[in-house]
Amino acid sequence: MANLSPILFNDITLRDGEQAAGVNFFPEEKLKIAEQLVKMNLPIIEAGFPIASDSDFKGVNLIASELGTKDGPIICAMARADKKDIQCAWEAVSPAAKPRIQVVLATSDLHMKHKLKKTRPEILELAYKMVEYAKQLTDDVEFAAEDSTRSDPQFLHDVFTACIEAGAKTLEIPDTVGYSTPDEYASIVKGILENVPGARDVVIATHCHNDLGLATANTLAGIMAGARQVETTINGIGERVGNASFEEVVMALKTRQTYYGFQIDINTAEIMNTSRMVSELANMIVAPNKAIVGRNAFLHESGIHQHGMICNSQTYQIIEPETIGLKQYSLILGKLSGSHALKSKIEELGFKLKEDSFEAVYQEYKDLAGKKKFIVEDDIVNLVNKISSLPV
Ligand code: MN
Repeated sequence: MANLSPILFNDITLRDGEQAAGVNFFPEEKLKIAEQLVKMNLPIIEAGFPIASDSDFKGVNLIASELGTKDGPIICAMARADKKDIQCAWEAVSPAAKPRIQVVLATSDLHMKHKLKKTRPEILELAYKMVEYAKQLTDDVEFAAEDSTRSDPQFLHDVFTACIEAGAKTLEIPDTVGYSTPDEYASIVKGILENVPGARDVVIATHCHNDLGLATANTLAGIMAGARQVETTINGIGERVGNASFEEVVMALKTRQTYYGFQIDINTAEIMNTSRMVSELANMIVAPNKAIVGRNAFLHESGIHQHGMICNSQTYQIIEPETIGLKQYSLILGKLSGSHALKSKIEELGFKLKEDSFEAVYQEYKDLAGKKKFIVEDDIVNLVNKISSLPV
């Protein structure tokens, strides 16, 4: 089922990702990460929230000036529904050939009443006016209805209807607090497409947080329901426990391409380089068991799996490591490893052992693996040397 409409990746590592506790990207660091995003062919970069700080303004402005070329990505800046914010966002992104302003305004009763202290009619009017204002500055305006997933659906539809009338070209559905579920998120997207006049002529964007570990699943459910822009971050970093992770969403779409049916124009071979760069600059270690980019993603330790991998890597691996820029999978030696893996490791280290010597090494290896947390190459070399030096 070929689907010609592309999935537009909006990378928000430099905006929501930076909102992760303890993360602060300096302007030159933002540029470095953005260059990596361009290398991966991402069509949209949300570079920051310019009114938040001078440093963020500079970062967004630097990216807009350096990378916002005619053939380059859309450069987006975030603003609250406030003229000063919008003006500041515009000044920061205006050097870009394709500048975008994203206007954010909450639509849930909880946020409107307690945070914004405004009524529904006031929010509706403000959304219209601020999109209209941003539209005078740039043709490309995205409206994000903060806390969409806890908003009254009818009111959300009214606000989006007003935003389309005011000229918004992208409607974003933030699951701001990571509260939604895949079925529910899909029905919110469908509800908008069916009930908001003109919604099929604009782009619906997902923006999912990971508080329940559902950010990637919700994003994919949103796509299946008709969303065509996804907001993701590298390594899934972002406010609290983060956003839908770019590498998970893109590799799900690519690995299961016949299931999803979308053409993916992302250079995935740069995923590992980008992940490592963001991990270092954000000072956030990637969990070893993180999908796609975790240290263990392509490591195999149990004997049954290792034997399968030696026979054919597809037995226990759904992605070729080269696809994301890794050299090859690795067999890790531990107490669960079998003789096949040990034999291939010994050969890799340049030794050729007779069958009975190998048996002796294997017995000693099993003994050692029961006592040590990790087996390193030196351990194998020592065992081989010990057995080889015994009198025959
Ligand atoms: Mn967010």
